[in-house]
Amino acid sequence: MKKNLLSLLVCTKCRHNLKLAPFKTEKDEVVDGKLTCISCKREYPIINFIPRMLPDELIYDLVWKKNIKFLKKYGKKFKKSKKDFAKSFELTAKSKTSSSFGFEWKEFSEFHGIYKKQFLDWLSPFKPDMFKGKLVLDAGCGMGRHTMVASEYAKEIVGIDLSEAIDAAYKNLKGKKNVHLVQADIYNLPFKQVFDLAYSIGVIHHLPNPEKGFRHILRKVRPGGKIFVWIYGHEGNFVMVNLIEPFRKLITSRLPHQLLYYLCYPITALLEFSCAFYRVANALPIINSAAKYLPSNIYLLYISKFSFRHKLAIVFDFLSAPLARYYRKREFEKWFLHANLNAKIYPHNENSWKGLATVR
Ligand SMILES: [Zn+2]
Repeated sequence: MKKNLLSLLVCTKCRHNLKLAPFKTEKDEVVDGKLTCISCKREYPIINFIPRMLPDELIYDLVWKKNIKFLKKYGKKFKKSKKDFAKSFELTAKSKTSSSFGFEWKEFSEFHGIYKKQFLDWLSPFKPDMFKGKLVLDAGCGMGRHTMVASEYAKEIVGIDLSEAIDAAYKNLKGKKNVHLVQADIYNLPFKQVFDLAYSIGVIHHLPNPEKGFRHILRKVRPGGKIFVWIYGHEGNFVMVNLIEPFRKLITSRLPHQLLYYLCYPITALLEFSCAFYRVANALPIINSAAKYLPSNIYLLYISKFSFRHKLAIVFDFLSAPLARYYRKREFEKWFLHANLNAKIYPHNENSWKGLATVR
């Protein structure tokens, strides 16, 4: 954790400032340490360079249980008793989502060259210039693929993720002077209302209550700042909504991740074959005028350029998510209207929506 991050942070519970107590530092960064709320005295560990600022109901499953070494070494420096640390908590829907994406981002933590282009496609028609000189929040950064691109433009950027993917993000973004990472929950963001721009790409539709997540991100943007969101669309997703969704809900999201990972290979091979078929159908004269009516034509042509491994990551992402919702344009528009914002909303690959609004 870079020490200047402290000025942006607040307690997730009472919104007061925090006091930093480093246990181990490396150059200007805190490797291990503790943040304590000056009011309610709630404590948040800093483990492996990352502040872990989760609410009580999540911190045991997602932080303490997974960082036993830190606990053994520094547990005594925290107020919680050993009994508190040891008690087990039932997994909530949120922590299930988190563990699913944690596996995904650890397994697929490599960067593909096409990620930059994909990020710019997601933003389009908006330009990355909108990040220039700005303090940016990446809400749900996963292994940091978007944070990496946005950091080329932003003055400073803070990436948050609920899952262990945040550790993969740290490895990918280590050494970037304008990047901060925090393990945090979108419903309990530990920040002041300071961001010039907050964005969330491909995350909110996996939350138990997506609109609530949107509102929580919005609260961290200063008046006059901007919010950008990309979500799954209902329109243009006939095959996903009607065929793949029931399969995900009933079967694949319940499978052990390792098993699902292997199952994704033959499914991705099938997808690869479909992409080849779509490419040929769109290239042949006469047939190509009919090809545009094929389901998800634009999307399959788009991903046909991706490597097998990248497609495998996409398939795993779809099939492992415990929760996913697909939004009609008018439903997405309502998020902005309910927040009294005028949004510019555009389709993306004819199967998803992106919206940008200025915060009042
Ligand atoms: Zn507090």
